[in-house]
Amino acid sequence: MPGFELFGDKERAHVQDVIDSGVLMRYGFDNMRKGHYKALELERVLAEKMQVRHAQLVSSGTAALTVALASAGIGAGDEVIMPTFTFVASFESILALGAVPILVDVDATLTLSPEAVERAVTGRTRAVMPVHMCGSMADLRALKSICDKHGLLLVEDACQAIGGTYEGKPLGSYGDLGCFSFDYVKTVTCGEGGAVVTNNDQYKLNADHYSDHGHDHVGSDRGAEGHPFLGYNFRISELHAAVGLAQIQRLDEFLSIQQKNYRILREALSELPDITFREVPKGGEESYAFLNFFLPDADKAKAVHTALGKAGIDGCFYWYDNNWHFYRKWEHLIGKKSLGKWPAEVLQGLPDYSRADFSMSDHWVGRNISCLIKLSWSGQDVRARAQKMVQVIREVLQTVS
Ligand SMILES: *Cc1c(COP(=O)(O)O)cnc(C)c1O
Repeated sequence: MPGFELFGDKERAHVQDVIDSGVLMRYGFDNMRKGHYKALELERVLAEKMQVRHAQLVSSGTAALTVALASAGIGAGDEVIMPTFTFVASFESILALGAVPILVDVDATLTLSPEAVERAVTGRTRAVMPVHMCGSMADLRALKSICDKHGLLLVEDACQAIGGTYEGKPLGSYGDLGCFSFDYVKTVTCGEGGAVVTNNDQYKLNADHYSDHGHDHVGSDRGAEGHPFLGYNFRISELHAAVGLAQIQRLDEFLSIQQKNYRILREALSELPDITFREVPKGGEESYAFLNFFLPDADKAKAVHTALGKAGIDGCFYWYDNNWHFYRKWEHLIGKKSLGKWPAEVLQGLPDYSRADFSMSDHWVGRNISCLIKLSWSGQDVRARAQKMVQVIREVLQTVS
């Protein structure tokens, strides 16, 4: 991460095609397009890469989550299980549909604990939404079996983990629906964009209509199209899709760089006896977008994070104190603050998160440090960084008791 570090001729060429045709809209304008359908082509390439029947591009990862849930008929009062450690988009997408986000603990994988998920299932639960944070996944086999047992949807948020796999399948393709983000800092980026992937023909059709005002896309006259149900505008533009098309074709190149850089850092940190690494479930392979490790306790993790920053090591996050990614700082969700009134179903269904006990999440996220793996580092850059990190961490561990 992020793909913009390596923008080049391929991105430029696809964007040039769009500018030359003048068609920024993915639908219609057939006589002006000069054969360029960047969004359609990106959907085809993405579906092939993710080994699924369908991909639906949308305007963001947040839109992808919303469209994925909507396409499967999630609506008012339905409970969707999501982790305490994720990006705020998880509960935004659920709440946008009048559904109820049910927060559940994360474990040593830094994503949903299957035991905690099982305990959270009620008669109103409709979906489980694991979030493959920082490049790695939850125990998807265990989650799938819970979903099968209770008749729930499995919706994967693979926004930070494109290219990772589980039991040989690309992340995002294992559940009923998978979501990707191509925002400005993701491994594959186009500025703003996202995608839903699925093998379900009906969900694809629903996602296609829902993301474009409910248009049925039948025939070639946009003005004459039918509207089988209400939708919104979650479309991607041809300009964004053009950048995305260049980037997705470079995914394997990005992944091999991430993996190489990750390995060098990890090997160096492995020398430190007090450091342990994030658990990756059996059958899983990370996308190597981040290197995640644990310190023996939260005080040491905080001290190491501060020291790394002071030493000029950028891109290392202490998510526990971060405003966006951990439940402790979601005061708008906890305080039920929105501009207008909340739907009655949400007000009645939402647990009182100010009193919730997420001590398992605190235990794991409180000790975690997460370092972004860049694509533009030279071999020398990574080795120097690795050496410096080991030195800084060793010093902190000798002084903080
Ligand atoms: C980036 C991200 C999103 C949202 O994607 P946007 O394209 O920024 O809306 C959702 N979930 C996770 C885990 C993300 O990292």
